[in-house]
Amino acid sequence: MVLSSTFARDAQGQLLGGHIYSRTSNPNRAAVETALATLEGGAHGLAFASGQAASAAIFAALAPGDRVVLPDDLYHGTRYLATNEFARWGLVAEFVDPSDLAAVQAALQKPARLVWLETPSNPRLKISDLAAVAQLARAAGALVVADNTWATPVLTRPLALGAHVVLHSTTKYLGGHSDLLGGALVLGADAPADFLARLRSWQNLAGAVPAPFDCWLLLRSLSTLPLRVRAQSATAAELAAWLAGHPKIERVYYPGLASHPHHLVAAQQMSAFGGMLSFEVRGGHDAAKAVACRVQLITQATSLGGVESLIEHRRPVEGPASVTPPGLLRFSVGLEHVADLRADLAQALG
Ligand SMILES: *Cc1c(COP(=O)(O)O)cnc(C)c1O
Repeated sequence: MVLSSTFARDAQGQLLGGHIYSRTSNPNRAAVETALATLEGGAHGLAFASGQAASAAIFAALAPGDRVVLPDDLYHGTRYLATNEFARWGLVAEFVDPSDLAAVQAALQKPARLVWLETPSNPRLKISDLAAVAQLARAAGALVVADNTWATPVLTRPLALGAHVVLHSTTKYLGGHSDLLGGALVLGADAPADFLARLRSWQNLAGAVPAPFDCWLLLRSLSTLPLRVRAQSATAAELAAWLAGHPKIERVYYPGLASHPHHLVAAQQMSAFGGMLSFEVRGGHDAAKAVACRVQLITQATSLGGVESLIEHRRPVEGPASVTPPGLLRFSVGLEHVADLRADLAQALG
């Protein structure tokens, strides 16, 4: 691990190891960028200070007036970044349901610079068909960006399905221990060179970079990523099935359930169905809030993808544009024993 912000030159004034100043590049970041690119099967990895910093780099790499097609249930931070911040710089955002291919095709009748996908989506776990949307977008000359934070490369490899760019909030599953903040972009070999150059320039000049220590933490976490995600997926699948039969539950959102409207697409593009699920408690806002406040083993907190289970009442944190049902709880399944988690949910549901 190297924590230096600057790097000594030798007696001839030459750089040792190619690094000059840590914002531009450093050994820890280079190691994690290579690892992330390899995990996603991409050609270039860029690490950022947060998922939002990675998303901002993408919008900043576009030109004023560029039109982008975004999912209608996009992560709320990305939504507000596009509509509150980059709209002032001329970004034109159109929102569609990307699980509806006809809607995507209609949105691509007008010129679009990129199509953004997030699958499974947050917090209703909608699944969009990555390969089919990428094919439509590429035919229209648009870049395809896939936010793969929830699926992780363990379950889905968007670049192999036609995406040009994969985005991660490494704060979540890739970090996996709720102790670092980070983001990443991985570009496929066919991503335009000028787009890559602008992303690299923004990463460096805007200083949108992670600390060397966080890069080291992230690299450490990647060695357990496949084991964590597979265990969390198995526990989530069991809990989703149990919740679906519980009398106090109105609806369960989990792509592994045969009742999920896009279960077959999920089965095609995911090797398991992930550790995230949402459910609606009968009785709406007040009933959901009461359950979130009664859990004991599970922690009531935002974020996801860590070794500890987290539950969150989503609607109140998403702001005025939220379309999330008021009784919805989002559940990030950790590595606790499934029987203990089931018992905690059972006592909280009463
Ligand atoms: C958390 C999250 C982000 C934002 O990442 P930060 O690291 O919090 O900036 C983006 N997309 C998804 C799907 C997320 O869950």
